[in-house]
Amino acid sequence: MAQINDTIVAPATNIATQAISLIRISGEDAREITNKMTKKPVPDKRGFYLRKLYEGSELVDEVVINFYNAPNSFTGEEVVEIACHGGILNTNHIINVILKNGARMALKGEFSQRAFLNGKIDLIQAEGINDLIHASNDLALKIGIDNMSGSHNKAVLILKEKLMDIISRIQVSIDYPDYDDVEGSSHEDLILLLQQIANDVDGIIKRSKMAVKSVDGINTAIIGETNVGKSSLLNALINEDKAIVTDVPGTTRDIVEGKINLGNTTINLIDTAGIRETTDVVENIGINKSKEYIKKADLVLYVVNYDNYKDKQNQAMYNLLKDKQHIIILNKSKDLTSEQIKEVNNYFGEKVVTTNALYGDIDNLINLIEDKYNNEEILKEDSLVLINLNQISLLEKVSSNVHKALDNIKADFPIDIVNVDLYEAWNYLGELIGEQYDEEIIDNIFRKYCLGK
Ligand code: GDP
Ligand code: ZN
Repeated sequence: MAQINDTIVAPATNIATQAISLIRISGEDAREITNKMTKKPVPDKRGFYLRKLYEGSELVDEVVINFYNAPNSFTGEEVVEIACHGGILNTNHIINVILKNGARMALKGEFSQRAFLNGKIDLIQAEGINDLIHASNDLALKIGIDNMSGSHNKAVLILKEKLMDIISRIQVSIDYPDYDDVEGSSHEDLILLLQQIANDVDGIIKRSKMAVKSVDGINTAIIGETNVGKSSLLNALINEDKAIVTDVPGTTRDIVEGKINLGNTTINLIDTAGIRETTDVVENIGINKSKEYIKKADLVLYVVNYDNYKDKQNQAMYNLLKDKQHIIILNKSKDLTSEQIKEVNNYFGEKVVTTNALYGDIDNLINLIEDKYNNEEILKEDSLVLINLNQISLLEKVSSNVHKALDNIKADFPIDIVNVDLYEAWNYLGELIGEQYDEEIIDNIFRKYCLGK
């Protein structure tokens, strides 16, 4: 990347839509550059200042300037924020004047990158900012906020401390082999401590993977006989006419996809042709595809009607999907009595939700999905949750090293071998929060950001 202390500028807000735009300048010369544009200088003191901005002698705008001394700013550098009148023309004009006075246009994510390089935030916080910017559902938003605030990444520091404690105990027993009565350093003690660390790390990995799934989307297949209302259900769910709804059995052969965000989860929808015995070649492709989709799906929405739920095809279909995560949907249920609905419940021996997809009446289904994937468990624990795959893979390396150490210690291997694995785990934790880093990797991380962040 470019030298770290030159002075950069970028809009900090979406300049197209806001009445007031915020422009951020960061770097050694932030205040000096600003003062070239104001007749009355901005004092070298944190605060808000109302100023007229000039290009040469021509008045450009009247603005509010917010000045932060280094290192007490987001980036850790001298920072000037200029609140000017909004709109693309005015904002770009002012940015141009700032560029002419010696600043450089910031790269994407460069403000966050400087905050990281100056030790104002660690990598988990930095990724939190990115997750927040790109959040697709409420869960991603909550995780982004938690991780950005730095309240949850202390978990990593605590793990590092615990590991270092064990490493030190082992090192003492290597250096002073006769001195074998350091309190809490017996084999049994070490195994217990390591097991605890392994559990902590594996817990974070497990919750993180659940979160990733909910943020990326639960792959959901809508399965059922022809004409039960699958396409209508899909339409009701995505609330738009993407799938063909028709009275002629067997005409929905295309696989239509839609993405819906429901509270704390995202559902990726796949419509499939009905699975049934048929001689129609094209329809057969649909059937095999459906079987494939049941296999690949994380969740199967299984649609039946009252007049066919226990026929032969449905028996075969239910057998294919009953061991997967599924929801049984009794569609076209408007005129059914509660006795009839109970009958269906009893037949399947599990909860059946009733819908009338054609009329957009699918609240029972939406509520069940939201309940099933509310992810309260993930958020309730009040511990670190990561949704960045690189970070999760670093934690997996930590886990595998700790488990290897545990196995070796249990097998009575020489204790210095154990320490090699633990030290590696300790290093991976450091990498996770960015204590050790590779400049190129850091550049790549921050270039994913938006301009001005
Ligand atoms: P698919 O073959 O399973 O995809 O079924 P469609 O969604 O194409 O629906 C087949 C027929 O059933 C169409 O005529 C729909 O209008 C109708 N239909 C779908 N859902 C309902 C419902 O909840 N109630 C009623 N009465 N008809 C429905
Ligand atoms: Zn259909």
